Amino acid sequence: MSKKLLTGSFQLMKSLNRSVILTIIREKGPISRAEIAKVTRLTPPTVSNLVKELLQTGIVIEQSLGESSGGRKPTMLTLNSSMFHVIGLDVGSHHLKAALTNINGKIIRKEIIPIPAGVTKEALLTLMADSINHIKQEAGVIEEHIIGIGVAMHGIVDVDKGRSVFAPNLQLQDIPIKEYLEDHFQMLVKIENDARAMSLGEQWFGNGAGVDSLVCINVGRGVGAGMIINGKLFHGQNFISGEIGHMVIDINGPKCTCGNYGCLQTFTSGPAIAEKAISELKLGQQSLLAEGDLAKISSESIYEAAVAGDAFSRNILAQAGRYLGIGVTNLIHIVNPKRIIIGGGVSAAGSFLLDSLKETIKQRALTTPAKETEIVLSKFGEDASVMGAVALILAELFSTRSN
Ligand SMILES: [Zn+2]
Repeated sequence: MSKKLLTGSFQLMKSLNRSVILTIIREKGPISRAEIAKVTRLTPPTVSNLVKELLQTGIVIEQSLGESSGGRKPTMLTLNSSMFHVIGLDVGSHHLKAALTNINGKIIRKEIIPIPAGVTKEALLTLMADSINHIKQEAGVIEEHIIGIGVAMHGIVDVDKGRSVFAPNLQLQDIPIKEYLEDHFQMLVKIENDARAMSLGEQWFGNGAGVDSLVCINVGRGVGAGMIINGKLFHGQNFISGEIGHMVIDINGPKCTCGNYGCLQTFTSGPAIAEKAISELKLGQQSLLAEGDLAKISSESIYEAAVAGDAFSRNILAQAGRYLGIGVTNLIHIVNPKRIIIGGGVSAAGSFLLDSLKETIKQRALTTPAKETEIVLSKFGEDASVMGAVALILAELFSTRSN
């Protein structure tokens, strides 16, 4: 089949009323045509016609449900979630992660490939295209059944133009990701900052489902936040909303990559936590970590030592949690979200970090409800950004629930 059909099938599902019906089937299915007409206030013949078109694409299927109070059993409609797929990419500092999921967000296949040091824009784009081709082949899915490609990218992303404006950890600027991938694959491509994508992913199928004010914090090599405000992802005017890694916590603190001093991420990013541990161990602190090569210490090895009972490592993580707690308290005072989700590599430290983070919020937040802001870990851990990339496409296909 031709590639054009791809865009065609997406367009067919996407038109406004179809998208509304698709969303209702996703949220309330199995559901009858009559019920859809009632909920949407579209006329029954209109619903019938639109449903017929959706049935033809294969994204909706009919299902006869057992129970019926006499009379004819109503034919129920449900999403054919295993037939269609989405590809998500998470472009990090050292690795590119690709996931192929169904439209319920179930990962069918996942791959991680290293990004070579000193990668050029062109080489990075080629790497992205290669990983998409590879995961498609390995998963053995039909090309026409891939709805689109979502890309979560660290740094500053121009969502409208689909470009990475600045990817600090790769030292790259102005990468035309959307244009390149759309040319290459002839399908819908959306790109977004990784923390913002993550918040969308948590809202779609993670620990943020049904929460209208939500902040997700991605703590990895850097620290970034994505905010869902009144049910919608917030971008800000120039796409730097949520850059909380550069919120200054201590004006006399260490110098940050951005040039300022004492930014949040100079205390809580993975590399910052490792650096802190190394500098204290050099002063002669007792720790399991002191037995190995200091240069190889990472936030992961600190976590492993903490699990093994190493008091020094537990203290290092608790200290990072306290700083993160200060940043999060500032965020609570600005946004006042119902729930905050912590994800990214450093979130693997779990309660070693979370306990002191929560304690800090209890000590510092202004009011009792603010002190009790829900703090949870991402449902997807290290996959939070790639699941967010998948959600970018689903958010296009399904109209949002309430606006
Ligand atoms: Zn900074």
